[in-house]
Amino acid sequence: MEYIANPKRYESMVYNRCGQSGLKLPAITLGLWHNFGGVDSFENGRAMVHRAFDLGITHFDLANNYGPPPGSAEEMFGRVLATDFRAYRDQMVISTKAGYYMWEGPYGEWGSKKYLISSLDQSLKRMGLDYVDIFYHHRPDPDTPLEETMDALAQIVRSGKALYVGVSNYSAADTKRAIKILKEMNVRMLIHQPSYSMLNRWVEQDGLLDVLEEHGAGCIAFSPLQQGLLTGRYLNGIPEDSRAHKVTGFLQEKDVNEETLHMVRQLNTIAHRRGQSLSQLALAWVLRRGRVTSALIGASRVSQIEENVKAIDNLRFDDEELQEIDDILNA
Ligand code: NDP
Repeated sequence: MEYIANPKRYESMVYNRCGQSGLKLPAITLGLWHNFGGVDSFENGRAMVHRAFDLGITHFDLANNYGPPPGSAEEMFGRVLATDFRAYRDQMVISTKAGYYMWEGPYGEWGSKKYLISSLDQSLKRMGLDYVDIFYHHRPDPDTPLEETMDALAQIVRSGKALYVGVSNYSAADTKRAIKILKEMNVRMLIHQPSYSMLNRWVEQDGLLDVLEEHGAGCIAFSPLQQGLLTGRYLNGIPEDSRAHKVTGFLQEKDVNEETLHMVRQLNTIAHRRGQSLSQLALAWVLRRGRVTSALIGASRVSQIEENVKAIDNLRFDDEELQEIDDILNA
């Protein structure tokens, strides 16, 4: 059946300016790392993309290697774009990345210009697109000069294959250098994509959030729910259909340990007091200071997206509440 987007989709989503750029991103972005691969149900993935867009999620995050098998999430997304989103391409922000292993030989991973440009060409083919909105270098490469990697990003923007560029998993110090190199080539670093959640606060300690703010770059926080730990998913054991249980899931059963669950239960009590679910609390917390442009969630079913989007109904925290959360996390 033909997909027609919900005409009310822009009424409730919050759109935040990405650093000091002209681009606004939805407060919640959908990522296609898990549950959109060749091993997953195509119709379930398609239903999630539809529902996300209907709820005002205009931004979809992919990477060359998402699947499994690698590349299959981009192919899946390409099929959905071709059948359902032709009329909506200009209302969507589509991101992809390269950096992790994609093909054999010396040019199939890391940060050389050779790899990045051919990988993006492959991604565009898989998705059936002329350009992506954001292209990221996915992880720092200790061996390739940063100048070369940034030169590749600049060339990608100039060639029109991506409108904007960013980096992911870079330290504050490397990010600062990358921003400077790009600036010398008159290219803006739009955004950084780090991991960030209540259980993983390295971006605060490393000074990354300060660097991004200082240089007017945006920030999109991946795994804000700590892959599901910061939801109701594991409060009563490890469900069979959960990421921690699945062989293709990145979360390990050992990550669901008593020490973490002890914190999670206390956070759950705070969430309920605020009239939120735990996942909504975790997302509101990531967005709390306005330094994070968008929280980048994953989902295995439509109902999770619906629940998570409602986080934007209550993004306010008072100082006592934030202190109480810090005390739980630091105990
Ligand atoms: P999350 O922390 O949001 O975890 C998502 C998982 O949490 C879901 O698959 C689901 O697990 C569970 N979940 C989500 N909502 C709910 C809910 N309301 N109730 C119960 N369980 C829920 O993010 P991800 O780890 O999936 O990462 C999000 C995106 O970030 C990725 O898709 C990718 O785009 C990006 N990313 C980027 C990386 C990088 O290096 N740049 C690395 C990792 C991710 P279940 O399957 O068990 O239902």
